[in-house]
Amino acid sequence: MAQGTSDESTILRIVRLELSQVSGTEAPARSSIVTCALDQRTLDMLESIPEFSAYEAPNTDDAPYCITRSLDLAAGLGMFAQEDLDMGDLILAERPLAVIPAFVLGGSSKSDPEELFDQLTALMDQHARSTFFALADCHQGPCHALGIFKTNGIGLGDDLVYPDDSSDPTYVGVFNHASRINHSCSPNAVYHFDLQSFCLEVRAIRPIPKGEEIFISYSDSLLRPAKRRQRSLHNYEFCCTCSACANADISDERRASIKSVPSIDLRASPEVIIAISGEQVRLLELEGLQMLGQHVEHALFLVVAHTALEDSSDAAVYEEKVRRWEIAIRGDRANFDNIELAKQAGLRIAAARTNDVTISERSTART
Ligand SMILES: [Zn+2]
Repeated sequence: MAQGTSDESTILRIVRLELSQVSGTEAPARSSIVTCALDQRTLDMLESIPEFSAYEAPNTDDAPYCITRSLDLAAGLGMFAQEDLDMGDLILAERPLAVIPAFVLGGSSKSDPEELFDQLTALMDQHARSTFFALADCHQGPCHALGIFKTNGIGLGDDLVYPDDSSDPTYVGVFNHASRINHSCSPNAVYHFDLQSFCLEVRAIRPIPKGEEIFISYSDSLLRPAKRRQRSLHNYEFCCTCSACANADISDERRASIKSVPSIDLRASPEVIIAISGEQVRLLELEGLQMLGQHVEHALFLVVAHTALEDSSDAAVYEEKVRRWEIAIRGDRANFDNIELAKQAGLRIAAARTNDVTISERSTART
């Protein structure tokens, strides 16, 4: 599966992963090559995944997006919806052009990063290399490939990490299309890296009308005030002008009011839960923060509370939010067990409330 050279000084191996490409088409599977700097243990882990190199990427031939100039001229190109998208819809599934460990971007590599990038780009085929070097470099430093990675790199999550004591053991990938998606502090899309298909999957996290620009978040500090969020974006060297940053006075206050579910008393009555979690979901949706865990936590609480009040139509509204959130965040690995548990909890509360009413009616009848 992999062929390449090793760089003993960093214990990184520069390899070409040769993977099957597309499922769901009549055409014979074309190979898809990803050039990577991986340590041997990560390579062994990938090779231990059954049928890893034969696993096909999802078919996104009829891509529901186009890449064109962003309305924010400073942002250059951006990705736009070419059709109406619903929460959870797959926008893009794409293999990286290249993958490197995150620590290389921070300059903590023991070897010369320029040498590593020379080896990496030399192993790319001609088309991948020209695609890679056509990506933006907002750093304009001495190492162009390093600047391209810093400008366009997307973290590949917790499933692909090398088991050493580095402070940041993650990997970063650069993509032809996904790297064109601009940032917003109110993103309408989310991504996750699927290890088996070795694809980054981008999905809508709320309905996106045709023609709207698709945004992901480059920051993991979305609840912080605008000024602090801006500091977390320093690697990308742009000033965020999204609606939340442009209206920071209102947005900062709303974001400061967003709380996790543990702050709610689980023994509270369904009416109290509906008031608190209903307001939290409203704030999260006003701020365009549907991607956060708080959104699904409060929606689950609302499934419990509305089921407890035997209000099945409102329970179904929040059940659908949870279901689509799971699909958007986890793709084919979505898990709906929590919905069933929430409904059962609601039914138990409803039964207990009926019991309480019956007991109080009996005691009233006796007096
Ligand atoms: Zn912003």
